[in-house]
Amino acid sequence: KKPGRLVVVSNRVAMPRQTATGGLASAMRAALQERGGLWFGWSGKLAAQSAEELHRLSDGPIDYVTIDLSRADHDDFYAGFANRTLWPLFHYRPDLVDYQRSHLEGYLRVNAVFADELAKLLEPDDIIWVHDYHLIPLAAMLRERGVRNRIGFFLHTPLPAAALLIALPKHRELLETLASYDLVGLHTARDLRALEDYFLHEVGGAMRPGGRLRAANGRLFRAGVFPISIDTAEVADVARKAMSEDAVREFKQSLDGRDLIIGVDRLDYSKGLAQRFEAFAHVLERSPALHSHVTLLQIAPPSRGAVPEYRLIRRELERMAGHINGKFATPEWVPIRYVNQSFPHSLLAGYYRVARVGLVTPLRDGMNLVAKEYVASQDPKNPGVLVLSRFAGAAQELTEALLVNPADTVEVADALERALAMPQRERIARWRSMMDVLQRHDLTAWRNAFLHALTG
Ligand code: UDP
Repeated sequence: KKPGRLVVVSNRVAMPRQTATGGLASAMRAALQERGGLWFGWSGKLAAQSAEELHRLSDGPIDYVTIDLSRADHDDFYAGFANRTLWPLFHYRPDLVDYQRSHLEGYLRVNAVFADELAKLLEPDDIIWVHDYHLIPLAAMLRERGVRNRIGFFLHTPLPAAALLIALPKHRELLETLASYDLVGLHTARDLRALEDYFLHEVGGAMRPGGRLRAANGRLFRAGVFPISIDTAEVADVARKAMSEDAVREFKQSLDGRDLIIGVDRLDYSKGLAQRFEAFAHVLERSPALHSHVTLLQIAPPSRGAVPEYRLIRRELERMAGHINGKFATPEWVPIRYVNQSFPHSLLAGYYRVARVGLVTPLRDGMNLVAKEYVASQDPKNPGVLVLSRFAGAAQELTEALLVNPADTVEVADALERALAMPQRERIARWRSMMDVLQRHDLTAWRNAFLHALTG
């Protein structure tokens, strides 16, 4: 018997031929491409009423179905509860949490709209894979509408310690709905411990044989660790080819023999960009010998501009980049090239390969695919060094990176200087061991492991 379709549900859908910035988009397109199925989500557009009509598009084995949202639904659900409550909370920033009852209501309303529309599209053999913090209650709402299919959930952000989760008003109404999934996937053992701790010690659940959790309402579900990855072979290939692209060659020339440090992040307060600039400035401050010999290229495409905290961090970074450049630049050298633009993977891979150091210092990150892409893009004979935050999920696997606490300016500065001075033999040994991990655990392995656990 043919395996059922894969039905992917996520807030944003990466339509065919649209460049995707965001870990989830690149990962899912590849998954659906192979197995065939349906991708359901928000169209990215506003309309007078949510889900007035379904937009359908087919591209080879993938059907895309999207719905519009009303302005009010969008603002409460997306700009409100998802990105001003859950995102900061899940990234260990309770100080930035802005909780409003009306936002929670909008979040539940949009999840109910998703459930109504999706329930009509489902076939009995479909395997449903729901993604991320926007859609936590979706399975519970589908179950209320009679859906009996296997449903899995993957959380792409960290799940914070139970002590933080319980600070969220109405946390039980939200988080206990996780028990309506058959499988809940998380990036790291730390996230899994947080989930277990929450269910066991905060809301009266229990552990059952086979590693299953029982929620207080009696529902049984499984939870597991599935660190997302990249298409390692493909990234390596793209990086090799990128070196003959004009844009990459010209960029390399513009460095004029200087060592390049690269950072690539959505402009988000979780990425630790201010701390990163601080650490780089500290290096310049204490090591004048490096002046005009190193350049930091920080690529930071703006995101979530409708959320005030994002406008603030953007202004803050502009100020810092301007200040540091003003202080240290000479007529022929600018220390930070700060670029608020998004680039396709075909160029990024080349930039990564040119860079002697990949500087990836989020304060918290579910995984951080940029860290993995940086490693996979290196020249095996002359690889660069990854400086990586301990608080990125990727640090659990990429243990041969130079691991740092991003809040410690001196520690990051030390790691940067160590990376810049690292002998080739050590660079190769560290890179080889990280590359082995990425070759064994690539995107295909991730998807298969999750789907196997969901359907098995
Ligand atoms: N990305 C991109 N162009 C850019 C910046 C980022 O394609 O200009 C991609 C990057 O290559 C990576 C993804 O966006 O695949 C970011 O994923 P990550 O897990 O690092 O962070 P997220 O944005 O999901 O928090």
